[in-house]
Amino acid sequence: MQASGKLHLGNLVGALQNWVRLQDQYDCYYFIADWHALTTGYANPQAIRESTQDIILNFLAAGLDPERCTIFIQSRIPEHAELHLLLSMITPLGWLERVPTYKEKIQELKDRDLSTYGFLGYPLLQTADIIIYRARYVPVGVDQVPHLEISREIARRFNYLYKEIFPEPEALLTEFPKVPGVDGRKMSKSYDNAVYLSDPPDVVEQKLRTMMTDPARKRRTDVGDPELSPVYHLHKIFSSQEEQEHVAHGCRTADIGCIDCKKILIKNVHAVMEPIWEKRNKLLDNPEIVYEVLRKGTEKARKVVQETMELVRETMGLGKW
Ligand code: ADP
Repeated sequence: MQASGKLHLGNLVGALQNWVRLQDQYDCYYFIADWHALTTGYANPQAIRESTQDIILNFLAAGLDPERCTIFIQSRIPEHAELHLLLSMITPLGWLERVPTYKEKIQELKDRDLSTYGFLGYPLLQTADIIIYRARYVPVGVDQVPHLEISREIARRFNYLYKEIFPEPEALLTEFPKVPGVDGRKMSKSYDNAVYLSDPPDVVEQKLRTMMTDPARKRRTDVGDPELSPVYHLHKIFSSQEEQEHVAHGCRTADIGCIDCKKILIKNVHAVMEPIWEKRNKLLDNPEIVYEVLRKGTEKARKVVQETMELVRETMGLGKW
């Protein structure tokens, strides 16, 4: 998870909840990518610091368990940077320039100067992050598949040039609902439309109360089409089948108003967030627990990457002297 903002409900439903499930099925490594955040956010290091703090709290609050998975911060494992450097020797520039998100992102973030070496190298750093654990799978959404393809190519090239060290990582694709934000677009930290996991209950309530609905329902007596209401799409994620039918019917017939519909949603979103808030607050009062998780995770990750790097150095003429 890149340290480029606070986590929101979209990140929870679209990523974190899946990671919590995966920790019992695989030997999982989850980390906060603070170096990656610098590739686009280099001008604002304070934001990276704050985001890293927010993410680690939410990782733990949402149920990642340091006894069942490995949790760490990227920049605490300098071997990632070493492998990135070594892989840069064998990576043709064209491969990086061809990654579709490269040009898209430059367009999207026009206010920042992204004509940097670090930004072009983003997929290569990501490759190092993955293959340094000799990972078999990466749990990603479809949008990340091109990034993974270049990781596979680079692993293949390394294995071909030197020695079979790296398995080609595969995508562990899972279908997720796309969580809409309060304005109806995809919930994203970039759109100012997100409900953040760190928002206190009254802020969550206020955001959902003023959320967009079907624009056709101007008055209480106007009928609406639930499919056109982002509130209904949140119901599909957070509410029971019965409640979904109740609000959909009520919307079509104007039996219930938008406020009543939102009240049910607020109750259900609160129910999901309550245990997260509780755990977050406990961690905020006991920061030593968080430091201990990171210490243990770093230690475990470093053991793995040091083994890999010894093999890599050896095969590239850089073995022990
Ligand atoms: P953002 O769009 O806020 O910048 P990121 O791109 O950092 O979020 O996404 C981190 C993870 O959260 C990714 O796995 C992404 O697929 C997931 N995610 C982000 N926004 C949503 C959303 N609105 N609905 C579902 N999943 C999301």
